[in-house]
Amino acid sequence: MTGIGGRSPGIGTGFRGVAGVEPFADALARHGLSLVRDRVHTLQVNTGYLCNLRCRHCHLEAGPGRKEIMSRETMDAVVSFARRFPFQVIDVTGGATELVPVLPFLVDGLAPLAPRLMLRTNLSAVSGAAWEALLALCVAHRVVLVASFPSTNPSQADAQRGAGATDAAIVVLKKLNAAGYGVDGTGLELDLVSNPVGAFLPVSQGSAERKFRTDLLRKWGIAFNHLYTFANVPLGRFRTWLLRTGNYERYLKSLTDGFNPSAVERLMCRTLLSVSWDGFLYDCDFNLAAGRPSADPRIHVSDVRELPAPFAPIAIGEYCYACTAGSGFT
Ligand code: SF4
Repeated sequence: MTGIGGRSPGIGTGFRGVAGVEPFADALARHGLSLVRDRVHTLQVNTGYLCNLRCRHCHLEAGPGRKEIMSRETMDAVVSFARRFPFQVIDVTGGATELVPVLPFLVDGLAPLAPRLMLRTNLSAVSGAAWEALLALCVAHRVVLVASFPSTNPSQADAQRGAGATDAAIVVLKKLNAAGYGVDGTGLELDLVSNPVGAFLPVSQGSAERKFRTDLLRKWGIAFNHLYTFANVPLGRFRTWLLRTGNYERYLKSLTDGFNPSAVERLMCRTLLSVSWDGFLYDCDFNLAAGRPSADPRIHVSDVRELPAPFAPIAIGEYCYACTAGSGFT
């Protein structure tokens, strides 16, 4: 049987750490902590890096030129994997999930297999009949929609996502509300995700959610269920931007200064497995971006016969500080 575990941080990846930054493992040890697995209950599925946007903060460097998208064959393997193992939550992400031509096959296959199926959307990837068909599919399966919406200030949001992105997102959010998403009593959940638009940490989730709720209602009459605020992870395009603008060291310092040991116990990688667009397992989407699979050699979902056991190690790097800063990325 092929299991997962038994690898140590950095194996097979060439990961070097960052000069002048205390290794994340040392920071954990200084607080008497280690980052190990709990029981896995969430499966994250990355459908690929193709996206209509080219967001500055994207740790995967997704964009219009990317060719990596999940094939029907890999979707088959992912659905089979989710059938063999009982996940409570399945989270389908990208790139822009909407641009994967066979996405409905994945949604149809996964929806019956977990109590909660989440689909990430950037609110701008498809329109017209394609959007209507996707919306009908999500309504039929009671899929939870998780939409990127960085700021209620259009000029700030467009600076991160591209000119006109906010206007397009507002149109779609209104349509989602009209279909019942984000509206009390419908059971159709619409959550928003906000990342800071620069080299700074997010404000507290509670106060950001209150502001978003007030602003969206007042400016555009839009309702939603929950807002999640996450720090940008210094990988991929965001790392390149930090380096180019001379903000890299300052940003890492703000992350390390904000290290919150009490966030470690609730980190998502303790209970989550991430599947790449080509079907291989990672401990989280950030390790996928860093090219650091769950095991060495990496394991395809078709070959997994058991999930990682509690206390199995998790691959870590200095970017993990983005998950433990402030209230944490949990
Ligand atoms: S980047 Fe975050 S989620 Fe991934 S292993 Fe590190 S702490 Fe866990």
